[in-house]
Parts: sequence; structure tokens; C-alpha cells
Amino acid sequence: MSDKIELHALYGGTFDPIHYGHLKPVEALAALAGLHTVTLLPNNVPPHRPQPEASPAQRIEMVRLAIADNPLFDLDLREMQRNTPSFTVDTLDELRQERGVKQPLAFIIGQDSLLTLHKWHRWQDLLSLCHLLVCQRPGYSREMTTPEQQQWLEKHLAKRPEELHQQPAGKVFLAETPLVSISATEIRDRLHQGHPDADLLPPSVSEFIAREGLYRNPNPHAILRR
Ligand code: ATP
Repeated sequence: MSDKIELHALYGGTFDPIHYGHLKPVEALAALAGLHTVTLLPNNVPPHRPQPEASPAQRIEMVRLAIADNPLFDLDLREMQRNTPSFTVDTLDELRQERGVKQPLAFIIGQDSLLTLHKWHRWQDLLSLCHLLVCQRPGYSREMTTPEQQQWLEKHLAKRPEELHQQPAGKVFLAETPLVSISATEIRDRLHQGHPDADLLPPSVSEFIAREGLYRNPNPHAILRR
């Protein structure tokens, strides 16, 4: 029998909408890193971004539909239920208090998020609370932007996935996940222009978007881009 300790991971995002660029790399990551569960954490008031187009209830429903048949995933609504910005470090603090200091915990991000991690609230506290598991994302370099950031990365790099199970937090794992060239922005833009979203997200989510008339014209953000 294996004495490997269960590794639970969290995956935060706006999910406006959830798509295969979220799901496929994370499913591959789960196999590579031996993840027990992946808890999706849709956020309410993303600190660095414009407000989502879909309502909180619609984003939650899309996540529910996307993971309905996949036992790897579950859903945690705590960030949605908060009125303050969804700072990841606050959520992790809370989860640590609930789960104790010994349980290995991981937070999943895409490579684009790793490159801007130094802008996150209390980013330097993150690795005392969790491991960071990083999925590849097309168009984003695996090299950090500055020598200081690169040094930080190399200091914390997990060379083998087993290391993630042997300590509760503190490692960064760069996973060789499939490159999936999809973003929620692209999906919203396609739908605003009347193009189909086929193959970009699960059929149940696509049907929900159509039923709710989500991401139809006019694009509420277009005026801001002119
Ligand atoms: P938007 O286009 O609205 O900015 P998004 O598609 O980037 O959205 P988010 O919900 O903001 O999706 O992302 C949540 C997390 O998912 C982030 O850590 C991001 O890096 C990751 N992610 C999103 N799309 C991909 C992708 N195609 N490949 C790998 N990671 C991704």
C-alpha cells in the first residue's frame, strides 16, 4: 500500500465562461501530480480585472455543468460569497485554518498567472500556505521576466511530483501539460460576433450560454476599448 499523502488542489478563476483551456490542462496535471481532487473557486470581485459579463449565478452554473460528470472536480463558493476582493492568499489562510498545517495543499495557475504573480496581494506568503502547480499556456514563456523572479522560481522548483506529497507547501511545479489555445476573452469575442463556440467548451456549457442569451451583442466592454 502506498504511504503517499493525498494532495488536494484549488483552482481559482473568473470562469466567464469556464472552457477547455481550464479543464484539459488541469486533468493532465492531476494525472502527472497525483491530485486527489481539484476544487474550483470561482471569484466574485477579481481585484485586477473588469467585472465579468456573466452574473455570479450564471458563472457558478457553468462551472457546475462543466464538472458534472467528472469526479476529479468539486466546487467551493466561498470567494463568491465574500463581498471583498477575492485575494487568493486570504482564501488559502482560511483553508489552512480549516485543514490544519500538515495537509499538502496546492493552488493551480496557468503560466500567464505565474509571470504576474509578483503583483498578487501578499504573493510572498503564498508558498508558506500551498504549493503552486503551473500549467503551460500557449504564448507564455517558461522563463520568468526578471533575474530575481527566475532565482525565486529556481529556489522553489519541485524536480519530481513526489515532492508535492512530502511537504504541505512551498514548491512550484512546472507541469508539462498540453497546450490549449483557448481563452474566455476569445470565446466572449466570438459569441459577440455571432461565431460558434463549438469545441472550445463542454456542450452542456455551450447550451447554457445559448439558452441564457449570454455574450450576445452588444459587448458591454467594447465602448471602453475604442
Ligand atoms: P479571460 O480571457 O477572461 O482573462 P481566462 O481564459 O484567462 O479569462 P480565467 O478564468 O481568468 O480564464 O483563468 C483562471 C486560471 O486559468 C488562470 O490561472 C489562467 O492562467 C488559467 N488559464 C486560463 N486559460 C488557460 C489555458 N488556455 N491554458 C492554461 N491555463 C489557462
